[in-house]
Amino acid sequence: MAKKKARVKYKLKKNDVVQVIAGKNKGKTGRILSIDRKKGRVIVEGVNLVKKAMKPTQQNPKGGISEIEAPLHISNVMIICKKCGPTRIGYRFEGNEKIRICRKCGEQL
Ligand SMILES: [Zn+2]
Repeated sequence: MAKKKARVKYKLKKNDVVQVIAGKNKGKTGRILSIDRKKGRVIVEGVNLVKKAMKPTQQNPKGGISEIEAPLHISNVMIICKKCGPTRIGYRFEGNEKIRICRKCGEQL
């Protein structure tokens, strides 16, 4: 039997506003800063902050501790619909254009 390549497609995009639905950051919301599609992880602005020791650089000669966003698993975040809150993404076609919509209310996302 031919092996099917599991290619996961993520519907989320950079700059989407999402809510965390699981884990210690549950309920927090933020904007997606970056998506790692290979690992299935997202970095959400202001969410899952971890302290990181920074090496001294020219901009920051003393170095020190800085807070940065650690990646979250993409399945732990959901896009937020203005009307319904966290929701699943659906698609609708308008002519040749594929439009992302809220699966609950059909509002464009
Ligand atoms: Zn909706």
